[in-house]
Amino acid sequence: MALKDVKGIGPRALALLSKMGITTVDDLVTHYPFRYEVLVRGNLQETEDEGHIIIDGRVESSPILMRFKAGLNKMNFRLVTTSGIVGVSIFNRAFLKNQLLVGTGITVIGKYSKKKNVITASEIKMGTLSNKAKIEPVYHLTNGLSQKQMSTFINMALLMHGKEVSDFIPESFASAYGFSNKKTALNILHNPPTEEKLKQATIRLKYEELFAFMFKINYLKQQNKKKNSGIAREIPRKKIDDFIQKLPFSLTEDQKKAVDEILKDLESEGRMNRLLQGDVGSGKTIVSFIAMYANALCGYQSALMAPTEILATQHYHNMLSFFDRLSLRIVLLTGSTPKKEKQEIYKELENGEVDIVIGTHALIQEDVNYANLGLVITDEQHRFGVNQRANLENKGKKPDTLYMSATPIPRTYALTIYGDMDVSTIKTRPKGRKKIETILKKTTEIKDVLGMMLEELKQGHQIYVIAPLIEESENSDLTTVCQLKDQMKLAFGNHFQIDIVHGKMRSEAKELIMREFLQKKIQILISTTVIEVGVDVPNATMMVIFDANRFGLSTLHQLRGRVGRSELASKCVLISDSDTKRLSIMESCEDGFVISEEDFKLRGHGDLFGTKQSGDMTFKIADVRQDYKILLQAKKDSESYLKSKETDQEMLKKELIASIQSS
Ligand code: ADP
Ligand code: MG
Repeated sequence: MALKDVKGIGPRALALLSKMGITTVDDLVTHYPFRYEVLVRGNLQETEDEGHIIIDGRVESSPILMRFKAGLNKMNFRLVTTSGIVGVSIFNRAFLKNQLLVGTGITVIGKYSKKKNVITASEIKMGTLSNKAKIEPVYHLTNGLSQKQMSTFINMALLMHGKEVSDFIPESFASAYGFSNKKTALNILHNPPTEEKLKQATIRLKYEELFAFMFKINYLKQQNKKKNSGIAREIPRKKIDDFIQKLPFSLTEDQKKAVDEILKDLESEGRMNRLLQGDVGSGKTIVSFIAMYANALCGYQSALMAPTEILATQHYHNMLSFFDRLSLRIVLLTGSTPKKEKQEIYKELENGEVDIVIGTHALIQEDVNYANLGLVITDEQHRFGVNQRANLENKGKKPDTLYMSATPIPRTYALTIYGDMDVSTIKTRPKGRKKIETILKKTTEIKDVLGMMLEELKQGHQIYVIAPLIEESENSDLTTVCQLKDQMKLAFGNHFQIDIVHGKMRSEAKELIMREFLQKKIQILISTTVIEVGVDVPNATMMVIFDANRFGLSTLHQLRGRVGRSELASKCVLISDSDTKRLSIMESCEDGFVISEEDFKLRGHGDLFGTKQSGDMTFKIADVRQDYKILLQAKKDSESYLKSKETDQEMLKKELIASIQSS
């Protein structure tokens, strides 16, 4: 059944719903309330002066309406309740006057002034409360839709279509756990009779959502592992070893292990789907280069996709420096590649002349075709959404895929986001790296900080300065990049070069500044978090972060990873007047995994990936942090279900698999 067939939903409502992303009946009935209002009858005597009250009764006097200037009006009337008579006033509800006839039963919600014996109502609902507590759903809405309409639409859809709503819990689990059917559960969620029933129905729906999710993940993993699902290669290991021998450094044990795991994946006929996880600066890039080299030696093309142009460009130059003499054709393709050059690159990708292409999302534009794409690598992969990921993977027949991430993921998330992947982890840092000394300072201690900066500058080192905002905005007193530029110019401008880089600048301008910073033409670089990922300037030894309390610990850790990229001692100063307990974790801890767990406990996943976090992890009702236990159970169940030979399995699989393909 289509949404437009639900009784009461006309073209106007259809448009409004679609604006909210509700386009199917399933979307509508799973548009869950974001909270509930529990209406418990209050009592005039027991409510304190100016306290919140919910009370029902009968209208005792006809409302008197007063109109003030433009659009402002007020109504006064008396209400008889079981705990006495009380005056009610309400603003701007003149339209209710005709309904508030003497004797009408209503419920009033508002603030009770004991002295005046008057309730200033924020809301009046027609009808009295029943004896028991009443639980009312509250929905997210859009302009033009009311709570009541939303509720009516949902209930009508449930009535007409409830039986057809897809239910992903297999019969055996549903009966084992004593779960109600889907329609009943949805009904309870939208019209909760009691808190207890609501709780049970919520658990059931959460379980279902997590079960379906884990099933997909496990299914994908199983598919990837199948024989013949990928490309089998015979890698000339000797050449790889030679290349590694000639590197200016020796690989760490973890790097060697990761290389080995990846090469084995490339050799196997199963398809690689691997995450390379490692703290900032742990040396993931060179591992990915080796993988691309191996892939090229076997005659396949590789694509490396980075989230920003700065990063893509850096990888490109870095790669050229390692591979110059190996006669590989390596190209850079980003949004700002000139059109003519782009066309040329497209052609070379299509006829197989290019071995390795490095770029941004320009790599997945529709007119890009590859001759024989064998390996796809995405750097800082959490910045890309599932769809973008899938898109690039589809470019080759069945390319092997490697994801690199410097965001250590708490265990819970690893299970979900990366549940379908194998994981290589680099824990050890390259030799000689110094600990990044992290120091908390108050804004009143800015003089100390400037002093520390001067020390670094005198030694010829460079500094990053980070602020949360670019320009001043009316409703915030946060430090801005532009403001800091003026301040830094005042303090250091006579002797040192200071510049800014931020997300709103054109990419060529950004590139230019980053290049100048790399070439030491700029000593102090002021920035928003755009430099968060990947940028590598070994001579930068200090970072100062203003309004540090505005950032999640994982983001701070990522930022901090921009310094300490050489043998030089480095420091990171966090400036904040509040939130010092949380921030002090940064002083004592350098392990990104531990930090991410702390962040997760404190803030949930919202901040873990920065604001650009894709929709990968959005569940409608489950919350991975709170519902961790349900998640684990759902994972276990989905695995055993995938292995079982239940009669209903084929059908359920089909539906779920269809939903994978459409997502
Ligand atoms: P990330 O894991 O954050 O992507 P990079 O790959 O950018 O880290 O590595 C950071 C720096 O460390 C680079 O300059 C890189 O050349 C260097 N590096 C990588 N591996 C080693 C190693 N085994 N020994 C010394 N330096 C290394
Ligand atoms: Mg990197």
